[in-house]
Amino acid sequence: MTQLPAQSTDGVADDVSRETRLDSRGSFSLDAAFDTPIAREAAHAVRVRNIRQEQWPRPLQPRVMAVANQKGGVGKTTTAVNIAAALALHGLRVLVLDLDPQGNASTALGIDHSVGTSSVYDVLLSGRPIADVTATTEFADTLKCVPATLDLAGADIELTSQVAREYRLQRAVSAYLEAAVADGSAPDYLIIDCPPSLGLLTLNALVAAREVLIPIQCEYYALEGLAQLLNSVELVRAHLNPRLAVSTVLLTMYDSRTRLADQVAAEVRQHFGELVVQSVIPRNVRVSEAPGFGQTVITYDAGSRGAVGYLQAAREIAERGRLPIPTKAGA
Ligand code: ADP
Ligand code: MG
Repeated sequence: MTQLPAQSTDGVADDVSRETRLDSRGSFSLDAAFDTPIAREAAHAVRVRNIRQEQWPRPLQPRVMAVANQKGGVGKTTTAVNIAAALALHGLRVLVLDLDPQGNASTALGIDHSVGTSSVYDVLLSGRPIADVTATTEFADTLKCVPATLDLAGADIELTSQVAREYRLQRAVSAYLEAAVADGSAPDYLIIDCPPSLGLLTLNALVAAREVLIPIQCEYYALEGLAQLLNSVELVRAHLNPRLAVSTVLLTMYDSRTRLADQVAAEVRQHFGELVVQSVIPRNVRVSEAPGFGQTVITYDAGSRGAVGYLQAAREIAERGRLPIPTKAGA
C-alpha cells in the first residue's frame, strides 16, 4: 500500500483539512475529524483512481525526449520520473531510460539498480537490447524503466574507445522502437534522464532523442550555462542528429515568495517563448520526500502542490503531442 506523509502541510485547497478538530469558535469540524492517516490515504487513493480514469491523447508517433541540463540539482530526474508517472497513469505507455550513474530515476520508480543488475550499461557497452533490461514499475503496467547502475560511472571513459561511440544509444533505441512498433508494444514516450554533464552519456542521449526537455530551476544563476547546453544541441543537430530540437522548457522549484523566481520565469519565457510549459512546478517538500519511499510525488501524494504541478505540466506536454511539436534548435 502506498505510504503517505504523516502530515500534509503544503496548503493544497482540496487537501484533507488539517485544522484542529475544534474550529476557532470551538465547534466540531467534520473535515478535521477526518484528518487521520487513513482518511488521507483514502483521499490519495481516490485522486489516483480519478487520474487513472482519464485517458490523455497519444502522440502521433513515439516521442523520444532527453531531459537535459548539465547543471546538477535543477530537477532533471524529478521531472523525468514525474512527467513519466503522470503520462503513464493517464493510460500512455512510458519508458524511462535512466542514464545517470547515480540511478536516481530508477530509485524514484522503485526499480532495483544495485551493481550487477542488467541495466543501460549493458545496452551501451555490450549491445544488449533495451527490451532485455527493461523492468516494469509497480505503479502501472504502462510505466517501465531501464535502470542505471553505478557501473555506468565509468561508461564515459569506456565509451571513448568504442566504435560509433556517440551512436550506441541511438542504435539501441531505433532497434527497440522498430521491433516494438511492429508488435504493437511501442511506448508513447521514451524519456531519457541525463547526467549532470555534457559528456558522452548526454551526447548519446541527444543523438538518440528527437526532443530535448530542459528543466530550469527558478534560482540564482538559472540561465548560466544554458548557452553551453544549447550550443551542444546545435552541434549535435548539425553533425549527428538533424532531427534534434529543444521542444520543451519547464520551470522547476518555483518559490512564489521570492521576486527572483518571477524574474527568472519571465526571462526564460522571453527567451524560449511557446516552448515553455505554462504550468510551473512549485518548490514543495512532498516532491523531495517521495524518492525516499521509492515513489514519484504523484504516486506518493497526488494532492500535493508538487504533484498537481507535474500533472498539469504533463497534460500540456501530452496535448502538444497530438500536434506537430513546436521546436527550437540551438539558441
Ligand atoms: P537533477 O536530476 O537535475 O540533479 P533532481 O531532480 O535530482 O535534480 O533534484 C535535485 C533535488 O531537488 C532533489 O533532492 C529533489 O528531490 C529536489 N527537488 C526537485 N524538484 C523539487 C521541487 N519541486 N520541490 C522540492 N524539491 C525538489
Ligand atoms: Mg538527476
